[in-house]
Amino acid sequence: MDLGLKGKWALVCAASKGLGKGCAQALVREGVHVVITARGAEALEATAAELRALGGGEVRAVAGDITTAEGRTAALAACPRVDILVNNAGGPPPGDFRDWDRDAWIKAVDANMLTPIELMKATVDKMAERGYGRVVNITSGAVKAPIDVLGLSNGARSGLTGFVAGLARSSIAGKGVTINGLLPGAFDTDRLNMTLKAVAARTGKDFATIRGERERTIPALRLGTPEEFGAMCVFLCSVQAGYLTGQNILLDGGAYPGTF
Ligand code: NAD
Repeated sequence: MDLGLKGKWALVCAASKGLGKGCAQALVREGVHVVITARGAEALEATAAELRALGGGEVRAVAGDITTAEGRTAALAACPRVDILVNNAGGPPPGDFRDWDRDAWIKAVDANMLTPIELMKATVDKMAERGYGRVVNITSGAVKAPIDVLGLSNGARSGLTGFVAGLARSSIAGKGVTINGLLPGAFDTDRLNMTLKAVAARTGKDFATIRGERERTIPALRLGTPEEFGAMCVFLCSVQAGYLTGQNILLDGGAYPGTF
């Protein structure tokens, strides 16, 4: 299927590893030119080289913290125009809400709610003027089924999801711009494996046992792959997905137990 994406420009945030990288790979394979960002220049440049080797669209790498104004300015400046925006950043730490002060909340809201909102503010009206635009917000399955220890994530990402529900249905919807949330369940990335290693260290069990136990909680009996995540992202960006907006797509191997 020709997804109609060749020659578009995408800004893919937090993309040196994991889910962001999966999205960037899938877009580059479709001939999309990408600007990828991450804080660490070394891992970012290595990923950029991998993406260039795919022989698809042009790849530009901008090192910087996307949750800062400077990081966002640099990322936007490197992208001749943003047809596709994939919002992503590291997730907030786990913990107990009794221990979180105002600063902890501000940091989470800044990273996982206000940063994507700032980037949409900088891009969606220009997308609308050109008659095509796609925003994919990487959030979390925790938006649909909150995870107790991830209260900062549950709260900040739900704030973004509520805001986007309104924006996606505003006047930009009639001008070819779609905005959707992509909600990861358990995906095989550094982040998830670090969490599983921490559980292994805490319980004294080995990593393979902990990972196997986690996988058996998922009906698909495995973790998702960044490639599967990227494939859904690229479909949301396609011309074929032009009538799909304001939705939250859960990719979790059947882990969410509800009917819909
Ligand atoms: P990861 O740690 O594997 O990769 C994160 C990427 O983001 C890296 O490239 C890192 O350099 C970059 N990054 C982090 N903070 C950044 C910042 N402030 N500015 C620029 N780049 C930054 O993580 P992942 O598993 O791909 O997770 C991506 C997002 O999805 C996170 O917000 C995470 O909480 C969320 N999530 C992941 C899972 C999962 O199972 N992997 C599940 C639910 C939610």
